[in-house]
Amino acid sequence: MAKIFCIANQKGGVGKTTTTVNLAAGLAQLGQRVLMIDLDPQGNATMGSGVDKRSLALSVYDVLLESASIAEARTRSGKLVAAGCSYDILGANRELAGAEVEMVELERRERRLKTALAEVDQDYDFVLIDCPPSLSMLTLNGLCCADGVVVPMQCEYFALEGLTDLVNTIKQVKANLNDDLRIIGLLRVMFDPRITLQQQVSEQLTSHFGDKVFDTVIPRNVRLAEAPSYGLPGVAFDPASKGAQAFVAFAREMLRRLPKMG
Ligand code: ADP
Ligand code: MG
Repeated sequence: MAKIFCIANQKGGVGKTTTTVNLAAGLAQLGQRVLMIDLDPQGNATMGSGVDKRSLALSVYDVLLESASIAEARTRSGKLVAAGCSYDILGANRELAGAEVEMVELERRERRLKTALAEVDQDYDFVLIDCPPSLSMLTLNGLCCADGVVVPMQCEYFALEGLTDLVNTIKQVKANLNDDLRIIGLLRVMFDPRITLQQQVSEQLTSHFGDKVFDTVIPRNVRLAEAPSYGLPGVAFDPASKGAQAFVAFAREMLRRLPKMG
């Protein structure tokens, strides 16, 4: 059975997509079978995995509307295969923005992705779902099928406040739709140790959330920001960079923590 994780945070620009594609590449490099699902109509995780969102024949949209199975819609990127960290991609593009409205009338609409995933679950060790920055029907579909949530966050002043909202959302989804759901961990990203405020927030995080905070810290690193324009995760684009090495360390930490996750 695959471990299914949503990478979520209702704020935009906090590093969700960067975390998703780099964790996928890191786990793949460590020999894990990974499916990356892009649930954001912006399609950044799709493009950042080397798949052109404009030329997708089938996408997660078709899966949610049950006009295709995941086995039919998933794809691979030649670039990732060449880099030795290949994972399967269920891509997204602007079409997905319409799914929200089209699904309103459908029954068990929050469980569409879960149903579809059950058919391919055994093909993977990990399924990583890149969520959009909102609590939409799309995010609900992700949270409904997940074993847990990985929360990337910047150590900034309002970060803790935003976290309270997310924790409440997860509690609600747990109570109503998915009893298995929990926070797997908080990942500190775009970290700059020279900034005192970031150090302070980081300390607050660890004292408040204890071992729910991942040991690995992802530094601010320009190579991670440059990689998407080459259609690659940083882990594949510049393996020697500090950012890439941090994400491979994070993939290792994830594997280490697995037995404790039950
Ligand atoms: P989200 O998916 O939450 O909107 P992204 O992963 O797209 O966030 O990241 C937002 C921006 O920050 C992107 O331009 C990305 O390249 C950049 N970025 C993310 N993580 C890092 C990092 N560790 N160092 C430098 N830039 C980063
Ligand atoms: Mg994103």
